[in-house]
Amino acid sequence: MRRLLLWMARNRWLRERLPKLWFAKRAVRRFMPGEDPGSALDAAVKFRADGITSEFTRLGENVTNMAEADAVADHYLGLLADIESRGLDGEVSVKLTQLGYDLDVEATLAHVQRLAATAAENGRTLWVDMEGSAYAEGTIAFYERLKATHDNTGLCLQAYLRRTPADVQRLLPLGPRIRLVKGAYAESESVAFQKRAEVDAEYVKDAVALLRGLKDGHAVKLGLGTHDVRLIEEIASQMTAMGLPKTSFEVQMLYGIRMDQQRRLASEGYLVRDLIAYGEAWYPWYMRRLAERPVNVIFALRQMFG
Ligand SMILES: Cc1cc2nc3c(=O)[nH]c(=O)nc-3n(C[C@H](O)[C@H](O)[C@H](O)COP(=O)(O)OP(=O)(O)OC[C@H]3O[C@@H](n4cnc5c(N)ncnc54)[C@H](O)[C@@H]3O)c2cc1C
Repeated sequence: MRRLLLWMARNRWLRERLPKLWFAKRAVRRFMPGEDPGSALDAAVKFRADGITSEFTRLGENVTNMAEADAVADHYLGLLADIESRGLDGEVSVKLTQLGYDLDVEATLAHVQRLAATAAENGRTLWVDMEGSAYAEGTIAFYERLKATHDNTGLCLQAYLRRTPADVQRLLPLGPRIRLVKGAYAESESVAFQKRAEVDAEYVKDAVALLRGLKDGHAVKLGLGTHDVRLIEEIASQMTAMGLPKTSFEVQMLYGIRMDQQRRLASEGYLVRDLIAYGEAWYPWYMRRLAERPVNVIFALRQMFG
């Protein structure tokens, strides 16, 4: 089922047709408050009452010309201004391919630097998502250059990739801001662990290595981008054993998933940030959310026709 859903996520024919259907638009509401940024900002205002901060991303991947990438960068500059005017503790997370990475790496770097500089004016982190494994090395090298000029930037690392423990060690001296996730793409056995138990074990190992880096004096900021509360609790207990405070990591979860846990963790004094996605190009992203938990397909069908 997971493979089928991830195949559907990549299928061009489906991508062009499915999102136009009214019942599909209705189903996606579970994971997305609306296609426009205003809906995402409104949702973030509501979370503030629960002590949950926010993070925003406009859905969409690989652009085909630089004019599209320029428009995405301009859009995010506008979004940063809106976050500020609403007084939100909100951050922005971008995909390099949406900012032109396939076409012109230098122009993409200039875009991301501009966004990072604007985010820095109000003490915000600018996050860079991690995409399929073909982009891993390029994205990490990109982040090394970005971090050298803009300290307020963070990168997503995927625990399912076999290379990640080495990437953690490579980035530690930079005082990195890392959002650690399990990984959302269909990857081959040669580059990624396939079994859930293996990925979970890698996740804990990478998180603990980053916390140990923090303990050793590197300026690490760690975001645990997972809904796996069992793993969060295991990492929290190792963090306490290291003598680090509860605020040494931030839990980052997606809008609409485990909201009860997001509220509970925030009420217990953990830092919790909710990633709210919006935009018209939601189809592949939505299919990856279904693939993460195939029982969601049943919820989706209920929402479509219920
Ligand atoms: C803030 C954030 C940013 C992310 N950024 C990236 C990125 O840049 N690159 C990337 O490859 N991946 C990214 N991801 C996705 C990530 O890689 C996983 O695919 C996703 O988080 C699901 O894995 P999990 O860690 O929640 O663990 P799982 O083992 O998949 O889930 C643990 C438990 O959480 C619940 N759960 C998980 N997913 C769902 C769901 N879709 N619907 C309902 N319940 C669910 C279930 O109860 C499940 O048992 C991001 C995730 C988050 C939270």
